[in-house]
Amino acid sequence: MRRVMRNDMRNVMRNVMPTMNWILLALLALTMTAAAQQPASAPQNPKPASSAQPDQTPAQPSQAPSSQAPSAQAPVALAPPTTMDQVVDRVIMREKELIKFLSPRTPIVETYLQNLTQDKQLGPVPQDDHYFLGRMDLSESIDRSDYLQDKDKNKDEGMEKRLLGGLTKKFKFQYQPLGFSWMIFVDRNDFDRQHYDFHYSRREFLGDVRCLVFDLTPKKDAGRGRFLGRIWVEDQDFSIVRLNGTYAHPSRNSYYFHMDSWRLNLVPGYWVPSYIYSEEGDFTAGAHNTIAFKAQTRMWGYNLKTGTPNDELTNIRVDSVKDDTPTAQDATPLAAEREWQQQAEDNVIERLERAGLLAPEGDVDKILQTVVNNLEITNNIELPRPVRTRVLTTSPLETFSVGNTIVVSRGLIDVLPDEGSLAMVLSHELAHIVLGHNLGSQYAFNDRMLFSDESTYQNFGFKHIPEEETAADKKAIEMLKASPYAQKLETAGLFIKALQQRAPQLSALLQAHLGNNITENGTVTRMAALATASPALDWNKLDQIAALPLGGRVKLNPWDDKVEIVKAQPVAITSARDKMPFEVTPFYPRLSRYSNANAPAATTAAAPAPTTTTANASPTPAN
Ligand SMILES: [Zn+2]
Repeated sequence: MRRVMRNDMRNVMRNVMPTMNWILLALLALTMTAAAQQPASAPQNPKPASSAQPDQTPAQPSQAPSSQAPSAQAPVALAPPTTMDQVVDRVIMREKELIKFLSPRTPIVETYLQNLTQDKQLGPVPQDDHYFLGRMDLSESIDRSDYLQDKDKNKDEGMEKRLLGGLTKKFKFQYQPLGFSWMIFVDRNDFDRQHYDFHYSRREFLGDVRCLVFDLTPKKDAGRGRFLGRIWVEDQDFSIVRLNGTYAHPSRNSYYFHMDSWRLNLVPGYWVPSYIYSEEGDFTAGAHNTIAFKAQTRMWGYNLKTGTPNDELTNIRVDSVKDDTPTAQDATPLAAEREWQQQAEDNVIERLERAGLLAPEGDVDKILQTVVNNLEITNNIELPRPVRTRVLTTSPLETFSVGNTIVVSRGLIDVLPDEGSLAMVLSHELAHIVLGHNLGSQYAFNDRMLFSDESTYQNFGFKHIPEEETAADKKAIEMLKASPYAQKLETAGLFIKALQQRAPQLSALLQAHLGNNITENGTVTRMAALATASPALDWNKLDQIAALPLGGRVKLNPWDDKVEIVKAQPVAITSARDKMPFEVTPFYPRLSRYSNANAPAATTAAAPAPTTTTANASPTPAN
């Protein structure tokens, strides 16, 4: 049977599995449950350091969130290993330390998947799509709870939930969201020499980080669901920074996906699982394809407070209306109404941020803000309160506004081709504000903020009635025509045309969770009038970029949820297939070591009670 893998994977797999069949697939459940029943072998404590690493001043390791993770100690520099065997020991130790460090955390995990079909002109293109959003629990094993309500919940869930994805009884492929995030660790329970053979391959740079590359194969009797592939280990602390491969020995009727998993050095001494790319499919002539897809999994919200119900109560801010009037008089009815709206707005923004769904205020907001200001000034719009902008951390293409805050999703900013199209997106929400289409005043009542993060979508909603949508579009086009963007709306129109062409296949990406949908029944409705004035959409015109792939513009910091604009130079497009509008692509982050310069500010906030661990952690001598 033919089997074509991506180039980078091919090299890995040639060494370890010359005749690998299809995706190795299995019930990881078997190994997982077995392993879970064994007493968890306590990870070894980090050994003390005689010298600090160059990128770790002695103070930094103490910034580990000791208050939330009493058992997690910041890593401690050891004497450099002298043999490859010692390196392997160090890699195993560091992986166990990472598992311990992350065990009290419940990051958000998002998987967006596109099933592929062959297009004569464009090659593999999306056929349909799936979206999963959940919260991972990394404490005992790896589990997740979902933000999205499961419409057709499976009956035998216990077993089903633990599947990496597989064929159901009706032989219909079912994706199990947990499976896509499985490769955050090599092996949650048994990453050791008893279960794995390590083969050193070479040294290699990933970004700025020099790495040692190892091929890993599970021992013959190591059981199902063991990692099979390659790991990259940075050469200072010997933390794994990348894993690429799959899992070995599937059971009948189940598959393991191939995955490429990346970690980022976002906190001193730890490389945090951040991105996982999965891909399957064979489009060579004569291939009997049963499944073809590509999927991006992102993790973020590692530093979110995991609140107990009591915690939530104390966190609720009830004094969000600041009294800055000089006189001690009661508000007029209109002033009271505006304060009430402000309070609702503040409540919603704060709650979304705490749920990990809204990025903290930052540089991307300034860019959005500039565009909004341009629209306001040229249209002589004067509002009683300034319009603010914020970024939703999720991928589905959506916008909404609450009070005077406009919220745009990360995924939507990603795919917009230029500033004119960004102005198009923002003008619609600005129009709602200008027209006084206020939503959400019910959220001025603070009891309405008391819900679990996972039920955010059931408790919040900012959808306008169709009449307000039409009115906002009309007003928005009016404003755009009077703005500096009037001459730059052709690309915005092209964006709508491109979206229209892909909309029927991308229903999950286009499903708004808080605001109005941009499309109705596969037809673009939002700002659709702009499409008529734009040139014809032509995939073969290489200088016509109507929409970008996902993930190219906005970078989300998995630790503190901050967003920034990607500064990488664009790569020249050489064929229509390079355009990949709205598509999922592999991750290739430029790795670099943690430094204070790019330090997430929230890292320090996570350690209200720093402890010094470097000098007196344990008396074990360094080897
Ligand atoms: Zn709207």
